[in-house]
Amino acid sequence: MKFHSPDYVRSMAPYQAGKPVSELAREYGLLESDIVKLASNENPLGMPESARQAMMAAAGDLGRYPDANGFELKAAISARYKLPADWITLGNGSNDVLEIAAHAFMQPGESAVYSQYSFAVYALATKAVGARAIVVPVREYAHDLEAMLAAITDDTRIVFVANPNNPTGTFHPADRIADFLKRVPERVVVVLDEAYNEYLEPGLRFDSSRWVHEHPNLLVVRTLSKVYGLAGLRVGFGLAQAELTDLMNRIRQPFNVNSIAQAAAIASLADDAFVERSYQINREGLARVQSGFAKLGLTYIPSFGNFVLVNVGDGAAVYESLLRSGVIVRPVANYGLPQWLRISVGLPEENERLLAALAKAVGRPAP
Ligand SMILES: *Cc1c(COP(=O)(O)O)cnc(C)c1O
Repeated sequence: MKFHSPDYVRSMAPYQAGKPVSELAREYGLLESDIVKLASNENPLGMPESARQAMMAAAGDLGRYPDANGFELKAAISARYKLPADWITLGNGSNDVLEIAAHAFMQPGESAVYSQYSFAVYALATKAVGARAIVVPVREYAHDLEAMLAAITDDTRIVFVANPNNPTGTFHPADRIADFLKRVPERVVVVLDEAYNEYLEPGLRFDSSRWVHEHPNLLVVRTLSKVYGLAGLRVGFGLAQAELTDLMNRIRQPFNVNSIAQAAAIASLADDAFVERSYQINREGLARVQSGFAKLGLTYIPSFGNFVLVNVGDGAAVYESLLRSGVIVRPVANYGLPQWLRISVGLPEENERLLAALAKAVGRPAP
């Protein structure tokens, strides 16, 4: 190689995204309208109408830079979570917030702790700054919080916890997380990634923003990409006390959330009816696909998100067969789960398409 790149960059594997509908259409000669994409945990309802209108209005003023401090969006988040605006970090997707945290708190020679089978971005963000990953084996496919605590070393700077977790869909209730937070040393930043929080049944939801007041080392991360239906716009945010937020703000690109995204996020966050409808559709769809998997004799991990991890035996072969039926799901061999597929919950008709195609792929009658 003629040019230099750090070994830790050369050792990284790029993020593998879900296959886009347009790509499958091109490759297999299918009509885009006949393709069902259940690969990226997107909201099957698409984006809310309220956000569309806000975007149209904002689109008239794109000659100017976005508000670098996101005043109005932070005001909306601040009102909702009852914490000051200078406790909020906006991100170009919550991915961005995760990366900003890695840059702000780690350097080569230091380490991050996260779970086996947790979100791929934790590994990427850790490696991108030359830090070392301490990967803690799961316990029954879920984060082993005790083992994660025990894995923290003197050079550990961040512990990443996804709750519910992707790709496993597992969840730890409030008391377990609260206990964990109390026991992590205060010099270690806990990144609590709650991308699927709004999909929890009301009885399981808890107000993690309250914990931010108690723990100066806690960063709660949320996204507009899932229940709020704005995955294509890239908006997420972090909630943490001012000192931690200030450090992240030094690393953040000044205009990391564009004007249209800021406007849409404000509308979407206020659209309770859309969120409720999204929750209900997911609740019913999740029950349907899980019972379908059971009828097909497939093992799955009961999910607390908008997707399910299901054991299909030969993940690559079944993925390929589903593609031929026009259904895109997510292979997870790169997570070390070659027998499994991660399948997002869709609209009722999409779930039926999936179950029929899956039945065909595994040679069983449609459930
Ligand atoms: C989908 C997801 C996100 C959201 O990523 P964005 O960059 O906000 O689209 C974050 N964390 C986890 C665990 C996810 O599954």
